[in-house]
Amino acid sequence: MRQPRVIMEVGDDGVAVITISNPPVNALALTIFDGLKEKYAEAMRRDDVKAVVLTGDAGKFSGGFDINVFERLHRTGDSSILPETSISVAVNVIEDGKKPTVSALQGLALGGGLELALASHARIAAPNTLLGLPELTLGVIPGSGGTQRLPRLIGLPKALELMLFSKPITSEEGNDLGLVDAVVPSNELLKASRQWALDIIERRKPWIRSLHRIDKLGSLPEVVDIIKTARQQANQSFINVPQHQACLDVIEEGIIHGGYHGILKESKVFKDLIFTDASKGLVHAFFSQRATSKVPNVSDIGLKPRKILKVAIIGGGLMGSGIATALILSDIYVILKEINSEYLLKGIKAIEGNVRGLVSRKRLAKVKAEKALLMVKGTLDYSDFKDVDMVIEAVVEHIPLKQKIFADIEKACPPHCILASNTSTIDLNVIGEKTKSQDRIIGAHFFSPAHVMPLLEIVRTEKTSAQVILDLMNVGKIIKKVPVVVGNCTGFAVNRAFFPYSQSAHLLLHLGVDIFRIDQLISNFGLPFGPFQLQDVAGYGVAVATTKIFHTSFSDRTFQSPLVGLLLKNGRNGKNNGKGYYIYEKGSKPKPDPSVLPMIEESRRTINIMPGGKPISVTDEEIIQMILFPVVNEACRVLDEGVVVRASDLDTASILGMSFPSYRGGIIFWADTIGADIIYKSLQKWSGLYGNFFRPSRYLEERATRGIPLSAPAATSPAAKARL
Ligand code: NAD
Repeated sequence: MRQPRVIMEVGDDGVAVITISNPPVNALALTIFDGLKEKYAEAMRRDDVKAVVLTGDAGKFSGGFDINVFERLHRTGDSSILPETSISVAVNVIEDGKKPTVSALQGLALGGGLELALASHARIAAPNTLLGLPELTLGVIPGSGGTQRLPRLIGLPKALELMLFSKPITSEEGNDLGLVDAVVPSNELLKASRQWALDIIERRKPWIRSLHRIDKLGSLPEVVDIIKTARQQANQSFINVPQHQACLDVIEEGIIHGGYHGILKESKVFKDLIFTDASKGLVHAFFSQRATSKVPNVSDIGLKPRKILKVAIIGGGLMGSGIATALILSDIYVILKEINSEYLLKGIKAIEGNVRGLVSRKRLAKVKAEKALLMVKGTLDYSDFKDVDMVIEAVVEHIPLKQKIFADIEKACPPHCILASNTSTIDLNVIGEKTKSQDRIIGAHFFSPAHVMPLLEIVRTEKTSAQVILDLMNVGKIIKKVPVVVGNCTGFAVNRAFFPYSQSAHLLLHLGVDIFRIDQLISNFGLPFGPFQLQDVAGYGVAVATTKIFHTSFSDRTFQSPLVGLLLKNGRNGKNNGKGYYIYEKGSKPKPDPSVLPMIEESRRTINIMPGGKPISVTDEEIIQMILFPVVNEACRVLDEGVVVRASDLDTASILGMSFPSYRGGIIFWADTIGADIIYKSLQKWSGLYGNFFRPSRYLEERATRGIPLSAPAATSPAAKARL
């Protein structure tokens, strides 16, 4: 791999072009800052240099500060490796340099990359360049003056939107806002930037130091008001993390006391934030997601993904229509098969609804939407299956039906066609039992709503070929999902690890804990819904079906709550029919429904598990632990059986499939912050008090007694080896 470097070329026109080169995105590695200082010193010294154009190699300006440095800081705790660049590079070298700098932006200018550009005296960009300050997604704030210069260039409200919500914009939008001075065709970028730099020297264009500008900031009372509102919004949208409020503090400091004060505070706060749990969790989540694309014996054996141009989907219900939507939005042709024309029409209408919904929420251009809708064709038989590259079956969770469909498609499709199922629980070997095509059978497990949720769990059996796995991973990436390859077992990785989530909530409820207290605590912890509200949203039928399946496979540790059956008997089915644990009214937050309380009492009486007939007394922290430690326990079994390639895959899957808070790093990372020993001892205590549901797994016990983190690689058992 080529070393990161900074190159300088001086033209006859007296402009030095300084280029950041660190493929693939010109990340700002530590040596890049040294290189910049060195080249700038030379440029300032040389008499034949009048001005500087700063740019990036190979069509990209810079993707920002090198995130590997954060990882090193977290691992070592050694803050001395972090260079001070805000004053020494952005202010002293670029902004206060005695010769002007124009940044020539193309491809992307993100994070620290954009901050260097903000410190330049003008910015010229190629069309469609992505500009943004996404630092808050890594638990920190912009650290090279971004919090000070961005509001000064584009005004406070827009700057807050870009930073607090980590929302990137294009160079065209940047031009309208004043972030970019001109957008020019890519092939003219360098020429136009050089000319702009010379124009500054010749005083034909202004020499602007953005840190000194105040014209776009508004009056002090206005600023105070905007920041106050932003604080309230951030408080609601971003719980349990410090960086949003810290970012607002720093911006406020700079506006009230001046840009340079702001820069000093920004540097200090940036360094403090790096070592917070939130930053550690978010950086871990970032690297975990990146690692999922490396699958031993699949991605590293020289295979190339085959083209998947046409996909048939069987079943146009909730999942089938969502999957079809995701495919057509990425230009993959879809054949949708249903059992009759009424259901087919319903499926097509659902796809239309999904696509038009994106348009009305301004997430998709109308032209693109119309084009996508031309990519789907409905059918009631298999005649259109003769040239499809992949089938995704998404019919109801019924074994004989799925077996029959797989036997049929084996005959109807070409021999190269991938035969995938969206089953959420059924063993894929069982589904493919009546075929001879085991090597091309695979699970394509999407999460609902399939066109929105980012996770694609790819389930391989012992017989699925590496080529088929790679092809599906590639399709996943094309349709903008994060594919995570897992092994075949009941519930696969995510549903398997999280099946105790709602069961422990029901167990606690029957031990006398208040239902709404449980939900409130879990959402305070950071999951979007508590376990009972989640059941309301999914519908109680799902809870009945999945409990049955998990009870069959893991009867030693399932808690069968009589409550759901009781609710269904009383005509309640959650949010779907407006009768759940909560009252759902349009435009307002769900409210606890007191009318479920008598049913809860009846359910408690039926199984009568409260010790001495009295509700147990538990702290808020214990409630969270009693719900999430059983999940960690099952996740340990998932690791032990080698269902995932690495522990961090389960972190990614828990974040993207279950919305586990990313700032906690994922289920295993979070568990390791608590410690295997504490989790083990707690589960052991509860299993003594409340039964086998809490019994610690062998893996957890071993890790706890030997003092090894749960995330450390598992000693692969023969079963795990066979699976992967
Ligand atoms: P659904 O009931 O909404 O849709 C199933 C559709 O399949 C129906 O429209 C039905 O008419 C159609 N169908 C049945 N037999 C067919 C056949 N022979 N040919 C063509 N179409 C046929 O079900 P769903 O919620 O979309 O679930 C589908 C699958 O996805 C199940 O295996 C389920 O376990 C899995 N899944 C569901 C979710 C979820 O949240 N609902 C999440 C992940 C996976």
